[in-house]
Amino acid sequence: MRRVSLLAKVDLDTCIGCKTCERVCPTLSIKVKDRKAVVDEQRCTGCGGCEQRCPVFAIKLVERDDPYTIEFKIVPEMKDKVDELCRKAKFHPEQIICYCTETRAEEVAAAVLAGNDTPEKISAATGIRTGCKIECIQPILRILNAAGITPEKPEGYQWYGLTPTLWDINEDVKKRYSDGGFRFDDDIEVFEKVINAKK
Ligand code: SF4
Ligand code: SF4
Repeated sequence: MRRVSLLAKVDLDTCIGCKTCERVCPTLSIKVKDRKAVVDEQRCTGCGGCEQRCPVFAIKLVERDDPYTIEFKIVPEMKDKVDELCRKAKFHPEQIICYCTETRAEEVAAAVLAGNDTPEKISAATGIRTGCKIECIQPILRILNAAGITPEKPEGYQWYGLTPTLWDINEDVKKRYSDGGFRFDDDIEVFEKVINAKK
């Protein structure tokens, strides 16, 4: 769930048309036209991704006149399937997977099961961001993959691919690092306990 109370505003005199904002917007709400960035105010979720990355500080977040809440409700009939998908992607359903917006794995999994099949659609449905290479985009892609979906990368969009997790480490690598004190299987066992803990 995310309360959207802010909106991106561009200072057109300062904007140099570099398109950085366009590449990082999780909801594809800002586009450069005639070398100036234009915000789709209806779509903008005020996440601040563009503001933080604009190289010339041309974007400011302002208060919206019409604040609203984005929340993907998990209907009780979906709950088992949502939990199953989260755990298949190696997340506890209540785990926060985007710290900026405090979006939980279960909300993203529910959005995926309802047919949202790209990070941009999931961001618009849940409020989660997609611009961080450690959090948000990785969990979104892992949940999509666990649902059997491999989305195409949008052209020109800044999108980080998946990085390996503990579960992807092969036996040769595990053996090679075991003398150095790495205990990958023990780590997996602990994580599995957390992921499968009942609420
Ligand atoms: S990142 Fe800043 S300078 Fe670049 S297009 Fe967007 S608003 Fe303009
Ligand atoms: S990056 Fe975030 S704040 Fe900027 S236009 Fe897109 S949704 Fe709005």
